[in-house]
Amino acid sequence: MPDYSKIYIDGAWKSSHGTSTIDVVNPMTERVIAAVPAGTSADVDAAVLAARNAFEPWWHTTVPERASLLRSVATKLRERADEIAQIISAEMGSPISFSNMVQVGAPIRSFEVSADLVEKFEFTRNAGSFDIVREPIGVVGAITPWNYPLHQIAAKVAYAMAAGNTVVVKPSIMAPLDAWILAEIMHEIEAPAGLFNLVSGSGAVIGEALASHPDIDMVSFTGSTDVGRRIGATAAQTIKRVAMELGGKSANVVLPDADLAELMPSAIRSAMSNSGQTCAALTRLLVPRNRLAETENLAKQLAESLTVGDPSDPATILGPLASRQQLDIVRGYIDRAITDGAKLVTGGSAPIRGFGTGCFIAPTVLSNVTVDMEIHNEETFGPVLALVPYDDEEEAVRIANATDFGLAGGVWSTDEDKARAVAVRMRTGQVAINGAKFNPEAPFGGYKQSGIGREFGMQGLEEFLETKSLLF
Ligand code: NAP
Repeated sequence: MPDYSKIYIDGAWKSSHGTSTIDVVNPMTERVIAAVPAGTSADVDAAVLAARNAFEPWWHTTVPERASLLRSVATKLRERADEIAQIISAEMGSPISFSNMVQVGAPIRSFEVSADLVEKFEFTRNAGSFDIVREPIGVVGAITPWNYPLHQIAAKVAYAMAAGNTVVVKPSIMAPLDAWILAEIMHEIEAPAGLFNLVSGSGAVIGEALASHPDIDMVSFTGSTDVGRRIGATAAQTIKRVAMELGGKSANVVLPDADLAELMPSAIRSAMSNSGQTCAALTRLLVPRNRLAETENLAKQLAESLTVGDPSDPATILGPLASRQQLDIVRGYIDRAITDGAKLVTGGSAPIRGFGTGCFIAPTVLSNVTVDMEIHNEETFGPVLALVPYDDEEEAVRIANATDFGLAGGVWSTDEDKARAVAVRMRTGQVAINGAKFNPEAPFGGYKQSGIGREFGMQGLEEFLETKSLLF
C-alpha cells in the first residue's frame, strides 16, 4: 500500500509543510480508509519550482523519449490494474467491474493514445514565408474531481507531458488515493525529477494556490461549473491559460422512428452508470409525447433490474454515491422535482431498505419533466433519469439546447441521416448517434457553461501547446 503521509515533489516523497491531514472515507462502509496531507501553499511553491526547473530539459527531450515514458506509465498501470481498481472502488464507490473496465482502463488508454498521437504530431509546419511552431506552454496545474479520479488526472498529465509540459497535480480530497499509485509509478520508471508533482489538499488552499500562482502557465481544471467560474476569475489575474471541463445536463433525443425497446438499456446505462456521477451522463431522455407511457414502463423495468450494492461485489451494477454530502444533494433534487410537478416512475429519495451503511440511492426515473423545472436544468450527479416529452422535432432540438450546459448528447433513429441532422443542431461538444461509445481519440469538452477547450485526441494534445510564428 502506498505511503499516503507524503506528497511527491521534485522526484521524491516529501513531508508537507502543513501538519494536518484529510480523511478519505469509503462511501460503502462510511469508515475512514486513509488520510492524506492537507497541503499548504508552501507545498505548491515547492512543486511549482520543481516543475519550472524540469520544464526546459523536458521540453527538449525528443518525441520518442516522451512517447516511451508515457508507454512505460501505461504498462505499469496495467500491471497494477487490480490494485488501482480496488482503491478507486473503496475511495469513491464505483462498482469493481466498472472500476476495472473504465476507471483503470481509460487512464491506461490515455497514456497509450497520447504517446501514439504525439508521434504523429507535426510540431513545425511551413506556411510559405513562415513556419508555425508548436511549443509546450510550460508548467501546468491540474485540478481534478472525484468521479473518474484517475481518468481525469490522466487526461491532463498524459497529454500535457506528451506536449512537453511539466505538471503539478491536485486530486480531489474525496478520492485522492489513486494519484499516489501514479506518483509511485513515475518514481519507479525514473521520470525526470519535477516532471510530475503531486500535492494533496483542499481546493480552497491548493486549488486556489495553483490558480493564482504567477509561475504556473496553465490551469487545467475538471469539476463543477461554479468552481470553474471561480478558477477562471482567479487565473485571469495572472493571464494564465485556462482549460475547463465542467458540468453537463445532456439530452438523449429519441426520434419518432427509433426502436424504444432496443435503445432503452443503453439510455438507462448512459444516465446511471457510475451511479449517475458522470459529467457526460445523458440524464434527459427526450421522447415523443405519444410514446411517453411506453418509455416510462421500459425505464421502470430496467432501472429496477439494476443490482445496487457493495462495490466490491462483481455483480454490483450501481454502488453507493461517493459521499453522504452527495447523497443529500441528490435526494434534494429528487424531492424538489416531485414538488415541481415531475411524476416519480420509480426510485425516489427514501433510503433503500436493507442497507445499513452506505450512501445508497435507488435508481430513479422521473417523468413529465419540463424545461422550467430545476431537474431539467441542473446537474443532479446521481442515478436520476428525467423523461421529457416533446411534440415535434423542432421542439426536441429546442429542448435539447435549452440548458446552460453543452457537454454531451445522444440521438436515436433507425435512419442515421435523420439522427445526424438533429445531432448537428445540438449545441454540445459531443453527440453519440445510436448509442456510440466513448472514444478516447475523439475530442471531448463543452459548449456554453460546460467548459473551455478540449481533452483527448489531437485537440487534447494541442490544448497544451503554444503557437509561435517563425518569420523568414
Ligand atoms: P468540484 O467541487 O468543482 O471540485 C473539483 C476540483 O476543484 C477538486 O479538486 C476541488 O477540491 C477543487 N476546488 C474546489 N474549490 C476550488 C477553488 N476555489 N479553487 C481551485 N480548486 C478548487 O467538482 P467535484 O464535485 O469534485 O466533481 C464533480 C463535478 O465535476 C461535476 O460538476 C462534473 O460534471 C464535473 N466533471 C466534469 C467533467 C468533464 O470532463 N467535463 C468530467 C468529470 C467531472 P476539493 O478536493 O477540495 O474538492
